[in-house]
Amino acid sequence: MVRQTTISPDDFIYPMFVTHGKGIRKEISSMPGCYQESIDELIKNAKEVYSLGIPSVILFGIPEHKDEMGSSAYDDNGIVQNAIKAIKDSIPELYVITDVCMCEYTSHGHCGFIDKGEVDNDKTLSLLAMEAVSHAKAGADMVAPSDMMDGRVGAIRAAMDREGFSNVPIMSYAAKYASAFYGPFREAAESTPQFGDRRSYQMDPANRREALKEVALDIEEGADIVMVKPALSYLDVISDIKSSFAVPVAAYNVSGEYSLIKAAGKLGWIDEDRIMMEILISIKRAGADLILTYFAKDAAKILND
Ligand SMILES: [Zn+2]
Repeated sequence: MVRQTTISPDDFIYPMFVTHGKGIRKEISSMPGCYQESIDELIKNAKEVYSLGIPSVILFGIPEHKDEMGSSAYDDNGIVQNAIKAIKDSIPELYVITDVCMCEYTSHGHCGFIDKGEVDNDKTLSLLAMEAVSHAKAGADMVAPSDMMDGRVGAIRAAMDREGFSNVPIMSYAAKYASAFYGPFREAAESTPQFGDRRSYQMDPANRREALKEVALDIEEGADIVMVKPALSYLDVISDIKSSFAVPVAAYNVSGEYSLIKAAGKLGWIDEDRIMMEILISIKRAGADLILTYFAKDAAKILND
């Protein structure tokens, strides 16, 4: 009765990695329990996710083909687009969010269009808008731009409104830090930059107030939900955003945060289940309304018990 914070499976969004082929379920070595899956396997897994009471998944695509322009990202027959259609056919109630970015689809692994060795912010906007519209056309319930280009929420909102998807909301990765905690994800999504790094468009971990500025801009451009990424080293940022803005706040409990616990758990150095639950409740306590987490299925099993 006096507990001040609770978590439940319906706080969770489960990230999934979809790849080409059939019958493929390849475990990501640095993220035990997480897989790259072909659509047929993804559907089986998504059914389990939904049956555990987790209302939503976010999809990341591993395309067959990468090029300079990341053209598979906005191909209506692309891997994510086909995965959305398949999920909507078999589990229509599962809320499907799509990651909107270029880095999974570009040969250079950057989140945008490269001109003279640098990411061209403004040229990237139209590609991101095309990608978001293509996901919405396939049936995505919400799109989530993760690139951190300036002006992308506005560009995506305008394009989706123009194409008849004004009811599809945007969850923006508003405060995304240039973090080493993304390491294992890059293996999962095969999206390591081939040169340089992402520090020119992601935020400096030392900056707290800058997050408020980024969030304010995204809300002004039309973001419906704002996200902080990563979660654990940025609980202060989650708290600041929650107390400063009225929109729902999401937090991404990222791959490195997951891998650390899985590894220490495997070595028997920590009580993995208890630490997982403690971390998830700390993210919620800090102010997150929604938690994107690779722990979603494990935590839901415990919560449902
Ligand atoms: Zn990216």
